[in-house]
Formats: sequence, C-alpha cells, structure tokens
Amino acid sequence: MTANQTQPNYIGGEWVAGGGEIESVNPSDLSDIVGRFAQADEPQVAAAIAAARAAQPAWERAGIEARGEALDSIGRELQARAEELGAALSREEGKTLAEGKGEVFRAGQFFRYFAAEALRLFGAGIDSVRAGVEIEVRREPVGVVAVISPWNFPIATASWKIAPALAFGNAVVWKPSNLTPGIAVELAKIVAARDLPPGVFNLALGAGAVVGEALVGGAIDAVTFTGSAATGGRLAQRAFARGVGLPRLQMEMGAKNALAVMDDADLDAAVAAAVAGAFGSGGQKCTASSRLIVHEKIHDAFVAKAVAATRALRVGHALDPGSQIGPLASREGLDSALSYLRLAAAEGAEKLCGGEEPQTATRGHYLTPALFVGGDNAMRINREEMFSPIACVVKVADYEQALAVVNDSDYGLVAGIFTSSLARAADFRRRARAGCVMINLPTAGTDYHVPFGGMRASSYGPREQGPAAAEFYAATKTCYAAPGAPPR
Ligand code: NAD
Repeated sequence: MTANQTQPNYIGGEWVAGGGEIESVNPSDLSDIVGRFAQADEPQVAAAIAAARAAQPAWERAGIEARGEALDSIGRELQARAEELGAALSREEGKTLAEGKGEVFRAGQFFRYFAAEALRLFGAGIDSVRAGVEIEVRREPVGVVAVISPWNFPIATASWKIAPALAFGNAVVWKPSNLTPGIAVELAKIVAARDLPPGVFNLALGAGAVVGEALVGGAIDAVTFTGSAATGGRLAQRAFARGVGLPRLQMEMGAKNALAVMDDADLDAAVAAAVAGAFGSGGQKCTASSRLIVHEKIHDAFVAKAVAATRALRVGHALDPGSQIGPLASREGLDSALSYLRLAAAEGAEKLCGGEEPQTATRGHYLTPALFVGGDNAMRINREEMFSPIACVVKVADYEQALAVVNDSDYGLVAGIFTSSLARAADFRRRARAGCVMINLPTAGTDYHVPFGGMRASSYGPREQGPAAAEFYAATKTCYAAPGAPPR
C-alpha cells in the first residue's frame, strides 16, 4: 500500500472511489501516513446493499462445498501472509508485531473453521404428532448481513463475522472502523480475489455517523456489531426505528472484566496473568482485566510483584520487536486514558507505577501501564470501561466478597479467578455472572471454535463463534409434509 494512492471501496464486485477520503496515521509514529482511504457516501451504501441483495441467491445456489472452499482458501492466504499483514496491522493499529501477526493468523483460523461449518449446517427430520405427517427443520441464509466492526481487533472481529455470514449463504456489507481502513482493504482484496458472485461481499469505508447509520437504516436483514455499549444502544434504536421488517441484531459491546486472586493461588502465575490480561494490547481488549480483586492475605505480596512486572514492560514502537506494549491506537484513546488517570487520583486511588507519556524516538500515543491500589468497586474507574493500560487492585476479605465484587458490574463479558481450590473454582464457574469464565488463566485469550459473548450490557442477541454462530447467520425453517395419503 502506498501513501499517495487513495484506497477505494469494494462495491458490487468493483473497486470504487468514495465521496471523500481520510488519512490513516501510524499511532507509533505520527509522521508516518499509512495510507489514504475513500469514504463511502449514502448512495454508495445503498448501492452496496442492493448489490448484496442481487448477488445473494447465486451465492446460496453455489452450494456448501463451493462456499467452504472459497472460505478455506481465504483462510489459508491469511495464514500464509500473517507476518506481512500482521506488520501492516501493527503499523496501523499500534499493537505489537507478535499481536498483529497472531491476530491475522487467528483471522485465517476463523475462515477455515467456518469453511468446514458450511458443510455441517444440519437440519433435522422429526415425526409430527399427527400420524402421516413428517417434519423437516432446515437452515437457510438470512439474506444481507451488515457487519460493523471495531478497530481493536480489526481483522479478527471482522473475520469471525464475515466468515460465518458467507459460509451459510448470506451476502455481506462490511463497515470497518475508520481507524483501521488499511487492514480492512487488505482483507477485502483477498476476498475479492476469490470467485464469488460480484456483490456477495462489499466493503464500505467511512464514519459510523455516515456509513454505519446508512447501513443499519438500510434494507438489510441482519446487523452484527462489535463496539462500545454507547454505540450499540444508538445502533439498536436506528435498526428498530423502521418499525416493521426488523433486522436480526447481534451486538458484542463493552466490558469491565475482573480477575479475582485468592489466598491459595499460585502467586507468580496469578501476577503474570493479571499483568498480561490488564496490559496486553495496551489494555485495549474487550477481555482485558482492568479490575484485580485480591484477597487481603496476599494483597501486599501480589501488589509488589505486579508493580515489578508492570514496570518491566517495555513500551515502544509497535514495529520494534522488543516492544511489549505499543501506543494507544488514537489521540482520543490517549486523551481518554489521561482523563481516567486524573479521575483515579480524584477518586482517591493510589497510583503505584506508570501512567506517564514516555520519551520515545518517534512521536506517538504512548502511555506507560498504570497500576492503582486502594480502590473500591464503587469508583468510576472500577465501573467504566477505560480501554487503556490502567488497572486497579481492589482488596477483599474472602472468597464471597471477591465473588460479589466480580459480579458487581453493569457488564459481564469475562470473569476470572486464580485459586488452587477445586471447590472454589467449581463454585465460581457457576456463580460468576459473565459470558466467559477463566479459571487459573488470564481473562484475555479465547478459542475460535466455541461460543464467545457476554451477559448484561456486554452483549445482545445470539452468541458469536463456534457452532453457536449458526443461530444468528442461518434462519430456521420448519416444513410439514404429508407425503403419502392426506391425514384423516
Ligand atoms: P465504537 O463503538 O466507537 O465503534 C465500533 C464500530 O461502530 C466502528 O466501525 C464505528 O465506526 C461504528 N459506529 C460508530 N457509530 C455508529 C453509528 N451511529 N451507527 C453505526 N455504526 C457506528 O467502538 P470502537 O472504539 O471501535 O471499539 C472499542 C469498543 O469495542 C470497546 O467498547 C470494546 O469493549 C468493544 N469491543 C467488544 C468486543 C466484544 O466482543 N465484546 C470485542 C472488541 C471490542
């Protein structure tokens, strides 16, 4: 990709210029322009939806094997080019090279997993309660799926949505985040190189307020969204505003994940998981553990080790192989983090390390990871998603209090515990109010072949990923037949 060529949208099988353009800037080095990207306008969004509508029947007729093979070949290319595309992702988003490469490889796994799932969309043959009548339950495409994805996992999140949508015979219009258009264009090029009916897959770049709104308000059959809870709320209102013919809606949103560390935990393993979970990708993961709920008996020892491990993290340019944390992805993200640091101090939490804008060779959105103690769970820093390298330790007296604090959140994506007690682990699995539970593991880090999603404000609609994805991307049809003599 060159900085002087504007990358277009992909609509109806053609690469088309937009109504305007934006620059994507490297957050590790603000003097480095990643590229210029077309911005779709409302008529182009409508054209993308119309192209998808027109192309979907041919894709459905292409059959499960052709669909599976196309997805498998997309997945293989992503994996073969993980190094190169991972570096492009890291340059644009700011995550480290290892994280960028790992994300592209994971995107390939999503495509290859759903390539196989295309073959497994089983129905059922069921006897009717009426003699002589047979029932067939079939799974069919939903139609045109709008995919709206965030910047923090710009290719993995998009892939876990686009792959099942295409696998089950739907057509897609994808709107990625305007912070990461470069990696979106790369994925679109890979899809466009396959022999899909023109219009089955469309890329419409642009702002949420323009392209997102036009897409959600358009003639689509389903919307799958990952982003903040605030955007999700607005999007749902827009999706349902049409009153009749409501689209299917699936949303994965914000989080405020907690990791509880009990007095019987393997302390070194717990510290490593807490620091990785809190500060990996600069805390910009929906699965990040920003609340560390620690038993009072080991609190001081945990904090001493966690501070040492946090201080040892190397913050630097995302493309420097020695960096363990890159910059925040945007100026807005850094400003928000700085305001949460001020809030933490105002709320009375004590900062033990980090929270500084370090001197770096290049100018970027850098912030050292910050660890606070002395927080209680009522503080805003322990209730709001900060999406930055800031974590707060909350001291608790026992397991029951730890569980209560873990569960005391508007969100419910991931809850974790470190303990050597089988009984506590079993109890936590049952009583933690979260869509994903981690026992003796970091809160961040999930598999691609099982359901993923949250509870309460973190999630709305059917689960994503694994076999559960079919609940959203495939419609259920129940057919009754009296093949022989009509029933009497
Ligand atoms: P965001 O809500 O700002 O944007 C997400 C997407 O929605 C972007 O493509 C954006 O352009 C679009 N958008 C914005 N306004 C819109 C509108 N009015 N109509 C339609 N689309 C609109 O989120 P973000 O900053 O890109 O991502 C960070 C958020 O995503 C965090 O809250 C994080 O927790 C969440 N997230 C959740 C998961 C999960 O699976 N639960 C995974 C990754 C990120």
